[in-house]
Amino acid sequence: MEWKKELASSFRSAEDLPEGFRLSASEKAYFTRPESQKSEFSVPLYYFSLAGKHENDPVRIQSIPRIEEFTIKPFELSDPLGENLYKVTGRLIHRYRDRVLFLATDSCAMYCRHCFRKNFTGRHQGPASMEEVKAAAEYIAVHSEVTEIILSGGDPLMLDTSLLKEYLSIFREAGKDLVFRIGTRMPVVLPSRVDAELVSMLKGFSPLFIMTQFNHPAELTEESIGGTDRFINAGIPVFNQTVLLRDVNDTADVLEKLFHTLVRCRIKPYYLFQGDLAAGTSHLRVPLSRGFNIMKELRLRLSGLSLPVFAVDLPGGGGKVPLTESYISECTESGWKLRDTNGKEFFYPEEL
Ligand SMILES: *Cc1c(COP(=O)(O)O)cnc(C)c1O
Ligand code: SF4
Repeated sequence: MEWKKELASSFRSAEDLPEGFRLSASEKAYFTRPESQKSEFSVPLYYFSLAGKHENDPVRIQSIPRIEEFTIKPFELSDPLGENLYKVTGRLIHRYRDRVLFLATDSCAMYCRHCFRKNFTGRHQGPASMEEVKAAAEYIAVHSEVTEIILSGGDPLMLDTSLLKEYLSIFREAGKDLVFRIGTRMPVVLPSRVDAELVSMLKGFSPLFIMTQFNHPAELTEESIGGTDRFINAGIPVFNQTVLLRDVNDTADVLEKLFHTLVRCRIKPYYLFQGDLAAGTSHLRVPLSRGFNIMKELRLRLSGLSLPVFAVDLPGGGGKVPLTESYISECTESGWKLRDTNGKEFFYPEEL
């Protein structure tokens, strides 16, 4: 249980930060606000150790709050994905026909400043109660169209391994063929959480996929790759969902390096997400036009294996849609005119 000790020693206030660490004016201004106005702050020492001295360091932007979090845009939403519209039990969201998402806990080892579920995370509610788990399991048992369950939150790996095992057993009982996914940032922010006990427990619930969130090549360290290796070597596949973040990874060069390195570490880049319209995150978002340009460039540089799907969760509950520029230039009676990445036209017939 080394990870618990490490978690307990995390920085939780400006006073906790190391003596020599100089906060920027905007970070300082955030910390002077009354406690009641702030959202949860916590950074494990390991993750903080990756931060550079520069104010615009990618690790720092993701983990240290800034005064801009108090700027709320009129179009920003407290529930940007409209998840409350699709809650079918206290902690279960059924948005897409064949898969459900369970909010295992509201706590995280590191509270990402860009978190899209800020209205839920870090509110000290803790792990779902057994009643909530059972209510979700009963729903799944009578909805045979559900073939996948995503454990999310918060970070499900904040739970003790034994409690997580109980949850998984109850869900497995409800749906014998369920495919599990666990959304977690632990390999990135607290890799010691991926210990032998956890890995051998999760191995028992195959098919189970780990969905993690590496956003910058600096996060791919010996420690974090050690964590993902422990999953993969045990037969647990690891996929990655990157969030497009201003000054963190909003260039083709940074993302090319990130996706290449992930694949070399046997991690499949799955999604690149356009920032959700979560309240107080406008300083971290990237204009959609910039996202399109980056993807256009990446398509020329990266293999299909290395290139994730660029997607956005439509504000207010529309769900996920891929953001692809159109390669269809014209549709005629006889067929389709399609453009290649250089703009050259090719013909594909309708009639086969
Ligand atoms: C993202 C998401 C899923 C999973 O979608 P995939 O495209 O299959 O990765 C499922 N449920 C909810 C509510 C989601 O937000
Ligand atoms: S790990 Fe996920 S749920 Fe937790 S703060 Fe980061 S983005 Fe939000």
